[in-house]
Amino acid sequence: MAAVRAGLGQDIMHELSIADSIIETVRAETAKHPGARAVKVGLRIGALAGVDPDALSFGFEALVRGTDLEPLALGVEYVPRTQRCPKCGLIFPAEDFSIQCPKCGELETIFAGGDELQIAYLELEEAEPKLTEIPKA
Ligand SMILES: [Zn+2]
Repeated sequence: MAAVRAGLGQDIMHELSIADSIIETVRAETAKHPGARAVKVGLRIGALAGVDPDALSFGFEALVRGTDLEPLALGVEYVPRTQRCPKCGLIFPAEDFSIQCPKCGELETIFAGGDELQIAYLELEEAEPKLTEIPKA
Protein backbone atom coordinates (compact mmCIF):
# COMPACT_ATOMS: atom_id res chain seq x y z
CA MET A 1 0.00 0.00 0.00
CA ALA A 2 1.45 3.33 -1.03
CA ALA A 3 0.91 5.77 1.77
CA VAL A 4 0.83 9.46 1.15
CA ARG A 5 3.47 10.84 3.42
CA ALA A 6 2.97 14.44 4.28
CA GLY A 7 2.65 16.54 7.37
CA LEU A 8 1.74 15.56 10.89
CA GLY A 9 -0.98 13.11 9.91
CA GLN A 10 1.56 10.79 8.41
CA ASP A 11 3.12 10.06 11.78
CA ILE A 12 -0.15 9.29 13.44
CA MET A 13 -1.19 7.01 10.56
CA HIS A 14 2.12 5.23 10.88
CA GLU A 15 1.71 4.69 14.62
CA LEU A 16 -1.94 3.74 14.21
CA SER A 17 -1.09 0.98 11.77
CA ILE A 18 1.61 -0.29 14.14
CA ALA A 19 -0.86 -0.19 17.04
CA ASP A 20 -3.32 -2.10 14.89
CA SER A 21 -0.83 -4.87 14.14
CA ILE A 22 0.11 -5.08 17.84
CA ILE A 23 -3.55 -5.56 18.69
CA GLU A 24 -3.84 -8.26 16.03
CA THR A 25 -0.86 -10.08 17.53
CA VAL A 26 -2.34 -9.75 21.02
CA ARG A 27 -5.61 -11.26 19.79
CA ALA A 28 -3.82 -14.12 18.06
CA GLU A 29 -1.70 -14.88 21.13
CA THR A 30 -4.60 -14.62 23.53
CA ALA A 31 -6.65 -17.00 21.36
CA LYS A 32 -4.05 -19.70 22.07
CA HIS A 33 -4.93 -19.52 25.76
CA PRO A 34 -8.62 -20.25 26.14
CA GLY A 35 -10.16 -18.45 29.07
CA ALA A 36 -7.27 -16.04 29.45
CA ARG A 37 -7.40 -12.34 28.73
CA ALA A 38 -4.59 -9.98 27.86
CA VAL A 39 -3.91 -7.36 30.49
CA LYS A 40 -0.71 -5.78 29.27
CA VAL A 41 1.48 -5.82 26.23
CA GLY A 42 5.06 -4.65 26.41
CA LEU A 43 6.84 -3.14 23.45
CA ARG A 44 10.48 -2.49 22.79
CA ILE A 45 10.97 0.58 20.66
CA GLY A 46 14.43 1.41 19.43
CA ALA A 47 15.60 5.00 19.15
CA LEU A 48 15.99 4.47 15.42
CA ALA A 49 12.72 2.65 14.84
CA GLY A 50 11.10 5.84 13.61
CA VAL A 51 8.21 5.45 16.00
CA ASP A 52 6.93 8.10 18.36
CA PRO A 53 6.09 6.25 21.60
CA ASP A 54 3.55 8.91 22.62
CA ALA A 55 1.75 8.77 19.29
CA LEU A 56 1.80 4.99 19.47
CA SER A 57 0.32 4.94 22.99
CA PHE A 58 -2.31 7.39 21.86
CA GLY A 59 -3.24 5.31 18.82
CA PHE A 60 -3.21 2.12 20.84
CA GLU A 61 -5.58 3.51 23.47
CA ALA A 62 -7.88 4.81 20.77
CA LEU A 63 -8.05 1.41 19.08
CA VAL A 64 -8.58 -0.54 22.31
CA ARG A 65 -11.23 1.80 23.69
CA GLY A 66 -14.71 0.34 23.52
CA THR A 67 -13.53 -3.12 22.47
CA ASP A 68 -13.47 -6.39 24.39
CA LEU A 69 -9.73 -5.87 24.92
CA GLU A 70 -10.31 -2.87 27.16
CA PRO A 71 -8.60 -2.18 29.56
CA LEU A 72 -5.46 -3.47 27.87
CA ALA A 73 -2.36 -1.61 28.99
CA LEU A 74 0.63 -0.80 26.80
CA GLY A 75 4.08 -0.77 28.30
CA VAL A 76 6.84 0.85 26.30
CA GLU A 77 10.50 0.12 26.78
CA TYR A 78 12.62 2.64 24.92
CA VAL A 79 15.86 1.16 23.61
CA PRO A 80 18.74 3.53 22.89
CA ARG A 81 20.95 3.13 19.88
CA THR A 82 23.90 0.93 20.78
CA GLN A 83 27.23 0.35 19.11
CA ARG A 84 29.72 -2.47 19.53
CA CYS A 85 33.45 -1.87 19.51
CA PRO A 86 35.33 -4.33 17.29
CA LYS A 87 38.57 -3.75 19.21
CA CYS A 88 37.59 -4.14 22.85
CA GLY A 89 34.13 -5.67 22.46
CA LEU A 90 32.35 -3.02 24.50
CA ILE A 91 28.70 -2.46 23.71
CA PHE A 92 27.68 1.08 24.57
CA PRO A 93 24.77 3.45 24.02
CA ALA A 94 25.54 5.91 21.25
CA GLU A 95 24.41 9.23 22.57
CA ASP A 96 24.37 12.46 20.64
CA PHE A 97 25.26 10.56 17.46
CA SER A 98 28.76 9.85 18.72
CA ILE A 99 29.77 6.30 17.87
CA GLN A 100 33.29 6.48 19.27
CA CYS A 101 34.11 3.74 21.81
CA PRO A 102 34.21 5.39 25.24
CA LYS A 103 36.63 2.75 26.53
CA CYS A 104 39.40 2.49 23.94
CA GLY A 105 38.60 5.40 21.65
CA GLU A 106 37.99 3.32 18.51
CA LEU A 107 36.13 5.40 15.94
CA GLU A 108 34.83 2.66 13.65
CA THR A 109 32.34 0.91 15.86
CA ILE A 110 29.55 -1.35 14.63
CA PHE A 111 25.84 -0.76 14.87
CA ALA A 112 24.53 -3.12 17.56
CA GLY A 113 20.91 -2.22 18.12
CA GLY A 114 18.31 0.44 18.51
CA ASP A 115 16.11 -0.06 15.46
CA GLU A 116 13.92 -2.74 16.99
CA LEU A 117 10.20 -2.57 17.18
CA GLN A 118 8.96 -5.70 18.81
CA ILE A 119 6.60 -7.09 21.36
CA ALA A 120 8.72 -7.88 24.39
CA TYR A 121 6.03 -9.57 26.44
CA LEU A 122 2.35 -10.17 26.76
CA GLU A 123 0.78 -10.45 30.17
CA LEU A 124 -2.16 -12.79 30.27
CA GLU A 125 -4.54 -13.26 33.11
CA GLU A 126 -5.59 -16.86 33.28
CA ALA A 127 -9.17 -17.65 34.08
CA GLU A 128 -9.72 -18.19 37.78
CA PRO A 129 -10.13 -21.83 38.72
CA LYS A 130 -13.79 -22.51 39.27
CA LEU A 131 -13.66 -23.15 42.99
CA THR A 132 -15.58 -21.65 45.84
CA GLU A 133 -15.36 -17.91 45.63
CA ILE A 134 -14.67 -16.15 48.89
CA PRO A 135 -15.66 -12.51 48.73
CA LYS A 136 -12.80 -10.18 49.54
CA ALA A 137 -13.21 -8.41 52.84
ZN1 LIG B 1 36.66 -0.12 22.33
